[in-house]
Amino acid sequence: MDRSSTKEILRLIPSVDAMLQMEPIAEALARYPRKLVLDAVRQVLDEARDALLKGKGSGPAEIDRPELAARAAERVEQLSRFTLRRLVNATGIIIHTNLGRSLLPEKAIERLNLISSGYNNLEYDIERGERGSRHAHAEAILRELTGAEAALVVNNNAGAVFLALNTLAKGREVVVSRGELVEIGGSFRIPDVMSSSGAMLREVGTTNRTHLRDYASAIGEQTALLMKVHTSNYRIVGFTAEVGLDELVGLGRERGLPVIEDLGSGCFVDLAPFGLHGETTVQETVKAGADLVTFSGDKLLGGPQAGIMVGRSDPIERCKKNPLTRALRVDKMTLAVLEATLRLYRDEHQAFEQIPTLRMIAASESELESRARALAAIIGALPGSQPLDIAVRPGHSQVGGGSLPAQNLPTRLVEVKSRKYTPNRIEQVLRNSDPPVIGRIESDAFLMDVRTMADSDTEPVRLAFEQLLRE
Ligand SMILES: *Cc1c(COP(=O)(O)O)cnc(C)c1O
Repeated sequence: MDRSSTKEILRLIPSVDAMLQMEPIAEALARYPRKLVLDAVRQVLDEARDALLKGKGSGPAEIDRPELAARAAERVEQLSRFTLRRLVNATGIIIHTNLGRSLLPEKAIERLNLISSGYNNLEYDIERGERGSRHAHAEAILRELTGAEAALVVNNNAGAVFLALNTLAKGREVVVSRGELVEIGGSFRIPDVMSSSGAMLREVGTTNRTHLRDYASAIGEQTALLMKVHTSNYRIVGFTAEVGLDELVGLGRERGLPVIEDLGSGCFVDLAPFGLHGETTVQETVKAGADLVTFSGDKLLGGPQAGIMVGRSDPIERCKKNPLTRALRVDKMTLAVLEATLRLYRDEHQAFEQIPTLRMIAASESELESRARALAAIIGALPGSQPLDIAVRPGHSQVGGGSLPAQNLPTRLVEVKSRKYTPNRIEQVLRNSDPPVIGRIESDAFLMDVRTMADSDTEPVRLAFEQLLRE
């Protein structure tokens, strides 16, 4: 290494003070905390220094100070951004696990504001003037809606399953069909949850066929529970046989064993009118006699992240007394949102109007068609939009969230093709705009599904395309 040339190179890098005098940085200082601006300037200077030293010997080194200042100003904005940000879901996947799952109903957000911005009776019995239980809050409405004797709400459904197994089957066996050893999103696998809860999995039947006699012959001294798991994200078709919950309940009663079902999604309404089949409702599951039913709060229910257990009083009371319940408990925000969401189910019509997850499922093709046309027209009207080929075409949305696999909802897509921009470039610019717009690429076109988009998403999309067209 030639020391003098290294020295020379380093002399090209402006000082932090010099940078602070430059216009974009001075402007940033007026708007952002000084510490953040200094961090950004130092990062950019460090990077410039590294780049110069790396390129040493490849011709005369140069530094563009205004460009460096602009980069530092941009870095300040990046650093000041929230990491958890609102974005536009144009994927058409309604319960998108990566994009926040279910959107909360307006009424639930009002409740969240009211309850969390003031004191409340989270653990206070107003009538008696003494300490109360947080578990009481969602329990009443859950009993009312499902017909179950009791209910308990914990952090998420994985937690609910874990708590149920730990409470009712620790050190003993749980009989499950081989066709139902589900994995959800990588980290939740029935065999793994089972072993970490301390329960022992007793697999019965085969992948495609399990009979009642398989369960019956697996029952022994060590058996604690019979369990069914809703195969929420896959479907076994062809030569298949599965034991219905009612039959399993019959067996459980005969042998004095509780039967639990992990429903996964937790649907309260019939989705058959929308062409979606195979999702048994929570009410039907309770009616079929399951001792304990577990499901998510933020899948088809359309509420906050939560794990909900409903069923007979005895197993639920035992779960409430498990010390783990304290570790899995929900806070006032979840309870406020959940109670408000559940109340909407008192009137099914109201539920479909006000719960975004259900509203998106129920959106009609004619409504989607007109929304897609309106969005296409807005993009088409942008100055300089000639390089874009914009069309509305039919496609399919998915419910997502591991619900209703292999079932599609007919929808309308806004398709953008271009001679000038590749689909990848369009996708990238939209994803990096603020707020980000997340669409998808299919057969050489960029696609946006209007089913999962709100009216308020139109403006971010317009701005993102405006930015693209400036390139
Ligand atoms: C989604 C799902 C879970 C996990 O629920 P979370 O609320 O995500 O913890 C468990 N079991 C089944 C069958 C599921 O579909």
